Amino acid sequence: MQKRTKILATIGPASDSLESIIRLIDAGVNVFRLNFSHSTHEYHSQTLSRINEAMQKTHKIVGILQDISGPKVRVGELSNDFTLKANDKVEFVQESILGVQVDDAHYKLSINQPSILKQLALDDYIYMYDGIIRSKVIEVKQNSVVVEVENDGILSSKKGVNFPNTELGIDVITPKDKKDMLWGVKNQVDFMAISFVQKAQDMIQARQIIQEYGGDTKLIAKIEKFDALKDIDNILQVSDGLMVARGDLGIEIPYYDVPSVQKMLIKKANKAAKPVITATQMLLSMTKNDTATRAEISDIANAVLDGTDAVMLSEESAVGHNPTLAVQTMCNTIIGIEKNYPYFQYADFTCNDRSDNINEVAVRLSDTLHTDGLLSITSSGESAKKIARYKPKCLIYAVTHTKKTARHLTLSWGIEPSFNVNDESLGMMMSDMMEQGLKSGILNLKSQYILTAGDPVGVSGSTNMIRIIGAHEIEFFRSLRWK
Ligand code: ATP
Ligand code: MG
Ligand code: MG
Repeated sequence: MQKRTKILATIGPASDSLESIIRLIDAGVNVFRLNFSHSTHEYHSQTLSRINEAMQKTHKIVGILQDISGPKVRVGELSNDFTLKANDKVEFVQESILGVQVDDAHYKLSINQPSILKQLALDDYIYMYDGIIRSKVIEVKQNSVVVEVENDGILSSKKGVNFPNTELGIDVITPKDKKDMLWGVKNQVDFMAISFVQKAQDMIQARQIIQEYGGDTKLIAKIEKFDALKDIDNILQVSDGLMVARGDLGIEIPYYDVPSVQKMLIKKANKAAKPVITATQMLLSMTKNDTATRAEISDIANAVLDGTDAVMLSEESAVGHNPTLAVQTMCNTIIGIEKNYPYFQYADFTCNDRSDNINEVAVRLSDTLHTDGLLSITSSGESAKKIARYKPKCLIYAVTHTKKTARHLTLSWGIEPSFNVNDESLGMMMSDMMEQGLKSGILNLKSQYILTAGDPVGVSGSTNMIRIIGAHEIEFFRSLRWK
């Protein structure tokens, strides 16, 4: 059985060789993530050319997602590690200093985004070291903010800082991000993930930058800030997809709220027919071990049941001891749950135009007739995604006119970008499809399929027909051009 839920894997030192990339594709990776919080442009360029080579060798299409690092707030350099105790005072200063211990229970340090300090008020929280050390503001001064530490912990240089109840009002796209985005446009990555999005305007700004660079990259909003949740409907509307970035999200909001937020985000993205990725710690223990915990396996399975389009590996595949095994484990887990799950659901999605209606009816028809595939002729990819949101029982074979559209579908649940045909008359496109399908084995004369298309062709969003395709139709259309 072929899995429907997609797998994203982060490439890093443990997985960046050509052989390793090929193994990962064979094991089930659909999209590779290049994390621009780490390594250089040279490194990522090399990885990218290896992925392209691997695609040719495996004859499979995979997508590239570039993760833009964004304004991760970090403490500056410290003269030495701070052994913080509950009730110690830490002064966050505006100027850039080497962090020091002033006296027994008093420390001073700076952060890389000092403008944030102006936004803080009494009783606001500041979390240090990815939420491990909690502190509360007890004094707001002209050029600094003093906090009282609530629990013991050791703080070292450059550790992450979070402000779980302060709207930071900072630019989510840093000067470094702009350079990285230019790299992404030049190298034609398929998706860019924008980190620490706070509001819809951040995504609009990202889109403007991409357009200025002449690109049309699909933009994924990483949901990892508490304030993003307040503007989620608007953010979704101006994004091409979402990532449930559970790492920072679980610091920004109470950890016990992350599962409900995951379900809420997945539901909203499904409704909008936009891909959603569930990320962080899915198989974390496999970074070191050969087997996953039962809890990790359940986490992946439950994300699938929630309706996620894709699940993601981070350190497991970037620095883990066996990236291929992690992907295989993820793949087996997905297949295991998809086998049992009655994932076909006539969810009550709003149909906004007749193309939405056609796609809904196509899914129902394919279920009634127990067909072996849904063939979607789609010039922008939207029509295939509108079918995918119903999570049909059979695979969705996307028929696209460009490689780019095919790659934009790699992240979406249940869609196999399988056919590439010229944008000409419907009859000729169908003729080429039948020829390609019979050759590749995707189509056979014993099965039935449902096809949706727009006719006359070439108008985006014009899906207006459904056709039942069996042996008779396959042979007829094939013969129009192929003898
Ligand atoms: P993010 O907040 O964007 O998730 P991260 O630091 O958590 O960033 P991940 O990609 O989630 O990074 O995890 C990958 C781990 O692999 C990181 O801890 C990082 O230290 C390590 N690593 C080293 N080199 C690379 C690389 N080239 N790409 C990605 N990760 C790398
Ligand atoms: Mg991050
Ligand atoms: Mg991470």
